[in-house]
Amino acid sequence: MFSIADNIKTVSQRIQNATKSAARPADSVTLLAVSKTKPAEAIRAAYDAGLRDFGENYLQEAQDKIAQLSNLAITWHFIGPLQSNKTRPVAELFQWVHTLDREKIARRLSEQRPEGTPPLNVCIQVNINDESSKSGVTPGEIAPLAEIVSALPGLRLRGLMCIPDPSQGDEALASTFKELNRHFAALQSRFDSVDTLSMGMSDDMEAAIAAGSTIVRIGSAIFGARN
Ligand SMILES: *Cc1c(COP(=O)(O)O)cnc(C)c1O
Repeated sequence: MFSIADNIKTVSQRIQNATKSAARPADSVTLLAVSKTKPAEAIRAAYDAGLRDFGENYLQEAQDKIAQLSNLAITWHFIGPLQSNKTRPVAELFQWVHTLDREKIARRLSEQRPEGTPPLNVCIQVNINDESSKSGVTPGEIAPLAEIVSALPGLRLRGLMCIPDPSQGDEALASTFKELNRHFAALQSRFDSVDTLSMGMSDDMEAAIAAGSTIVRIGSAIFGARN
């Protein structure tokens, strides 16, 4: 049994090796710990090991953990599918949303962002492998949604996110990541606020970092397998 702190060391080393191979600065990739289905105590252990960014997929579960850990300086990222009737708690409790894919949700999140708090950081999710099972916009829909988001006062457009089809081979996966990076570069040239490419999970973080990822979302490699 490895401890969460041991796992974080291993993951951090993998990130460092990957940035080095890609000739990128070691601090150019943020480690986002994906804590879905894991108890607040596991998050606390990862926090004690130095992590500050945590990702949650399920709102109810996240609300409980955010309340339990309210004394910690955690940056919370919402990374799950978001329904339009569930936007309010996300706008109130999280600092980031990685899975924006609709104008209606963008408008609601902006309206519901509490006054006096900084804008909610937003990545647009792209359905990069065109899977019918996945949420996310098509590449052609990125620019129009980005225009809308960038004009909303409660939101700050930070970049793009994808969950590629894991069943494709390594080569196809690498070109999928590179494709998202091309869309990211195009977006960056149009919007000053864009600096984030959210891609890479436990099994493919190296390929994502080689293709320019700036946030890797890591669950099982830190917290162990989910039941
Ligand atoms: C669960 C999840 C992850 C983490 O996956 P692991 O393979 O456990 O690292 C990353 N991103 C999203 C959107 C997820 O739902």
